[in-house]
Amino acid sequence: MHTVNVRRFQQQRNWMALKASGKHKSPNKMQNSAKIAIVGANFAGLTVAINLPRRYQVSVVDRHPYFEFLPNIHELLSGVKKVKSLRLNRKRLIERAGHQFVEDTVTTIDPVKKRIYTSARRKLPFDYCVVATGGVNDTLGISGAARFGMPFKTVADCQRIGQLMKRIIRRDRRVSLVIVGGGLEGIEALGEILRRYRRYPRLEVHLVEKKQRLLNRVPAGIDRDLRKTCQSFNVRFHTSSRVTKLARDKVWLSSGRKLMADAIIWTGGAAPTRLLRKSGLTHNAADWVAVNEFLQSTSCDSIFVAGDAADIPDLKSKQAYHAMDMGELVAANIKSLIAGEELKTLRLSSRPKIISFGDIQTYVVLGSIAVASPLLAGLKEAIFQAVMTKFDPPRGISSVVNLYGRTSESLFNLTLPALLSMFSLRQLTNLRILT
Ligand SMILES: Cc1cc2nc3c(=O)[nH]c(=O)nc-3n(C[C@H](O)[C@H](O)[C@H](O)COP(=O)(O)OP(=O)(O)OC[C@H]3O[C@@H](n4cnc5c(N)ncnc54)[C@H](O)[C@@H]3O)c2cc1C
Repeated sequence: MHTVNVRRFQQQRNWMALKASGKHKSPNKMQNSAKIAIVGANFAGLTVAINLPRRYQVSVVDRHPYFEFLPNIHELLSGVKKVKSLRLNRKRLIERAGHQFVEDTVTTIDPVKKRIYTSARRKLPFDYCVVATGGVNDTLGISGAARFGMPFKTVADCQRIGQLMKRIIRRDRRVSLVIVGGGLEGIEALGEILRRYRRYPRLEVHLVEKKQRLLNRVPAGIDRDLRKTCQSFNVRFHTSSRVTKLARDKVWLSSGRKLMADAIIWTGGAAPTRLLRKSGLTHNAADWVAVNEFLQSTSCDSIFVAGDAADIPDLKSKQAYHAMDMGELVAANIKSLIAGEELKTLRLSSRPKIISFGDIQTYVVLGSIAVASPLLAGLKEAIFQAVMTKFDPPRGISSVVNLYGRTSESLFNLTLPALLSMFSLRQLTNLRILT
């Protein structure tokens, strides 16, 4: 109760300070003319945009024209998903919500002048700004990682890996693929490589993970299950092993071992974008933005932060559904601030984690228990379909065409092959509990 009163007092004090500086608009004036700038339009930023009323002047800036469904980009490696089905046109979605989309890169946010600056020399004024910039590929300062490791963070990244795999697999000699990182991205990448290429005897895959276990944050049974499954394939796990250096065709490990590589997939995690520090929202390059329980930046309450860019101490992993929940809260709190109403606090919902391993296995993790069955792949696909339809409901010809494309791809590339292959059919009945 006490903290809530203190917060209310702080909000009131900030409002008085704004009033004294002459830079405020009264809530009534703001109701119709509030200027909102949203930086980043993926899960978090797009959710904020579509939940804000048309009467505000909302500008949404993203450096790329398409929303991308990142949790399924690994499926580009095997080709079960095509680029088109993982993307949605941002301009169309944002204009449909009554707002303006600006395809540009934000270079600085000035919290004092309340302006954002872009690389195309735009200056956009705001009353409230939303930072939803997610993260970028973290090369962990390892020599050669930025140059030779293929990042795994966007649709374009995974499309590039898929195309390279198609080229190198045709070589008339042994082909070596090194995956750096045995977390969610590394394991899902391996699963897709096996879905497509497990029948190629010349392909060998090395997966390097610095921790002792694959997927360190989920029940240990999954690590054991993955290792057992991969005994039938040409896969070597190098756990408790750090990568120390990369060259075009080699990866050096802390054990002194050197792996030859025709391709190196880099899944070393995410780092904050430089914009955060440059705009004075963080002190160090490795920091995410500190926020209060209303998702306002602790250094400037006219700046809200949603999604991966926010530093939420209780959050164990940055996930798309948290980004969407935060987006909804930020939109609600901006509306409340403008109406002079009380702000709502962040309540994190916890949902099962779904980890797919190609067409071989899918794990659903609920706390300390995991359920394994290839049948569960349908769950991940259903979430993909539901979220894409939520962002792009079938209204108008483009959305209907997109919906048809996505669902028929799901039927022909995922459901039918599973029903027609003996390997998958044998596995389908095999539902197991892992701890
Ligand atoms: C391979 C992979 C697999 C994943 N699997 C899952 C999963 O299974 N389940 C799950 O829940 N989550 C998963 N995630 C995590 C999930 O995708 C993220 O939590 C989610 O994307 C965060 O959303 P966001 O909107 O905060 O950031 P992002 O989705 O990263 O979007 C940030 C946006 O900001 C834009 N941007 C950044 N800087 C600027 C700038 N300066 N100017 C203009 N625009 C800018 C970017 O272009 C981008 O569009 C996965 C992520 C990856 C990479």
